[in-house]
Amino acid sequence: MPDPVPQMSADGGPAAARFDVAVIGGGVNGTGVARDLAIRGLSVVLFERHDLAFGASGNSSGMIHGGPRYLLGNPSVTKSSCLDSGYIQRIAPHLLFRIPFLVPMKKGTRGRVMLELYDAFFRAYDDFQPLKRGELHTRLDANDLARLEPGLVGSIVGGVTFDEWGVDGARLCVMNAIDARERGAKVHVHTTVESIAKAPPEDASDRQPLYALVARDTMTGKSTRVHARVVVNASGAWGPITAALGGLRATRVKIRPAKGIHVAFDRRLSNYAILTEAIDGRQIFLEPWQNISVVGTTDDDYYGDLDDVVPTSEEVRYLIQGVARIFPSIATARAIGTWAAVRPTLYRWGPNEDRLSRDHAVIDHAPDGAPNVYSMIGGKLASYRLFAQEMSDRIAETLAPSSKCSTHARPLPGGDEVPDAVVIARDAEITPVAARRLVYRQGSRAARIVERVKRNPREGAVVCACEPVILAEVRHAVAEEMARSIEDVARRTRLGLGACGGMRCAARCGQILAEEMGWTPREALSDARRFLTRQAKMRVVAMGPEQARQEALALAQMRAMLGTKNPS
Ligand SMILES: Cc1cc2nc3c(=O)[nH]c(=O)nc-3n(C[C@H](O)[C@H](O)[C@H](O)COP(=O)(O)OP(=O)(O)OC[C@H]3O[C@@H](n4cnc5c(N)ncnc54)[C@H](O)[C@@H]3O)c2cc1C
Repeated sequence: MPDPVPQMSADGGPAAARFDVAVIGGGVNGTGVARDLAIRGLSVVLFERHDLAFGASGNSSGMIHGGPRYLLGNPSVTKSSCLDSGYIQRIAPHLLFRIPFLVPMKKGTRGRVMLELYDAFFRAYDDFQPLKRGELHTRLDANDLARLEPGLVGSIVGGVTFDEWGVDGARLCVMNAIDARERGAKVHVHTTVESIAKAPPEDASDRQPLYALVARDTMTGKSTRVHARVVVNASGAWGPITAALGGLRATRVKIRPAKGIHVAFDRRLSNYAILTEAIDGRQIFLEPWQNISVVGTTDDDYYGDLDDVVPTSEEVRYLIQGVARIFPSIATARAIGTWAAVRPTLYRWGPNEDRLSRDHAVIDHAPDGAPNVYSMIGGKLASYRLFAQEMSDRIAETLAPSSKCSTHARPLPGGDEVPDAVVIARDAEITPVAARRLVYRQGSRAARIVERVKRNPREGAVVCACEPVILAEVRHAVAEEMARSIEDVARRTRLGLGACGGMRCAARCGQILAEEMGWTPREALSDARRFLTRQAKMRVVAMGPEQARQEALALAQMRAMLGTKNPS
């Protein structure tokens, strides 16, 4: 740990603000811990280098699942995921949606044997289903499967069903962060922690260590200094890099980063999610998710840039090839984008990536000379709350010994009641589809957006037709949910992530941000350009040549309209 830093800033500015706990990372683990500790009454500051959910949490497969895959090697992971899934349903009922899965088996001896094995396996998984309000599995014959999912082809002997839950991971993080902030936590987005050092004690009798963190706002360049009793490194795959900022032994924050990608399609292509195998025997899936379809996922050791994880066309082809074998219409369906992220998996040398444990661990840095500094590694969206509780219980031992975790019982913002979308549609005078999506994202807080529309009916106008998203929700994302760019609004509302890739809404969204944040028209245009360029980069790897040519043309035209001569 580096030497103490002075309490006054170098320019003689004010002393650093003082907190009980500083959390680094605005993924599901960081925001989960910040919320838990804020509820317990501790003062918390959270720094997120990009936007909330920028990393794995906002780019996962979006499932609050029990992880049947881990039942054989890691049953405790299955149990904790199922248990926490039940709690997450209770605190965010609006954000979770059922995803029933089909597992079809091809005809032949192997198919028949596999059907018996899967049937027996899911019988064991059934024991965990009540924890998460899941239906028990069912065995199906070929006729059942053909009736339920007409898109399935080939000679199929039968299959099984199992039940999971989907979630919008980005909103889950945003809701945790908002709740933490409403309970007094200070949340800095687009602010990267650049150093962690021991601070001099505030008075000579103080035996507790104090840490000084310096963070920089990447949009304004402004630096912030804070002091904290406890530091939590919840920076996921960045964990070892963040630990190095504090001079901590990197070998103690050991992860095996693994990249996973997904391909998005413009609509729900199947009635059910379908689990199948890729060419190498790995499990992959097609799932209806919100109002799109998603194919995922890969799992490959990753050594690249964590701040710019981009799928390749080879990864896309690997997934589509696997799904097309059993659901051929996927090959001609309209892909509208991809996303990718890096799993902060617990380290082990040797096994293939998808055989690695999905368990989580807290690293205590006291042996590195930094007591009260912790790193959280591994884990899952599905068990984030439990992981946050474990971390918070540990911190509370010294800072709030009489406190108890209550995050399993207290609703996340909007989770106290799920309003009727028909009533919301009538009150805001918006279409039932727009109302339904609004209720999904906002739960009871949809009422706040309706209030905005009632005050100013022009805010009922649709900004993004694909999702759809209305003007009031964009303004709400900036005013109440810490969005600072079009990409941030997209993460919170899915604006621009549909079929048009933002072509029809990015410029308008930029104008709204300009009004909300005092940007100049030029700043709004350059943010729209940035968003569209990023979208094009994530879409092009999944497109056929014709669609890619057409989109390149449309993008060039859009850039010309937005005032760039060189569409590079
Ligand atoms: C492809 C894929 C699919 C997955 N699917 C599922 C699933 O369906 N269900 C499930 O339960 N789990 C799933 N997971 C696992 C799950 O997403 C992760 O385990 C979980 O999101 C990790 O959360 P985290 O908060 O630790 O990390 P992250 O979400 O990656 O957050 C870390 C954050 O730290 C920030 N940061 C980094 N350095 C700094 C710094 N110096 N200062 C400030 N901030 C910093 C980053 O910007 C980032 O936002 C999946 C993971 C992947 C990659």
